[in-house]
Amino acid sequence: MSSPQWMQDVVSSRFDHDIFPFWEGLKEGHFLLNRCRRCEKHYWPMTLCPCSDDATFEDMEWVPTSGRGTIFSYGVVMRAPQPAWQSEVPYAAILVELEEGPIFPTRLSGRAPDDIAIGLAVEVDLQLVPETGLTLPLFKIAST
Ligand SMILES: [Zn+2]
Repeated sequence: MSSPQWMQDVVSSRFDHDIFPFWEGLKEGHFLLNRCRRCEKHYWPMTLCPCSDDATFEDMEWVPTSGRGTIFSYGVVMRAPQPAWQSEVPYAAILVELEEGPIFPTRLSGRAPDDIAIGLAVEVDLQLVPETGLTLPLFKIAST
């Protein structure tokens, strides 16, 4: 299902040039992070790595990642922040410590499980929102 052009224009105008590849990657099923070509450190996101005094913007590249990590911290949202989200609660807002290092803010897909805990293994769970044309990088409890 494709969204109207005016909606796609609104959605694409929300993102600046630097973060746009991340959202395009999600559409194609890839969870991308910035990586520095010099020191190979991953970021979400970063336009200039502080590893070297003569680092340049060209040292940074978008690369596919495992899409896996562990719950670094979380909070369970019991009251919907807006009426349209009423059917979503309770859900868990989480910080994921990705295998590549960065901490990524997102939410757990579906309802928050009773046994949610810091350190639980999670993996990316891409969710297309047809009304906006966006693919959201939610996470789910890892299958293995
Ligand atoms: Zn670096």
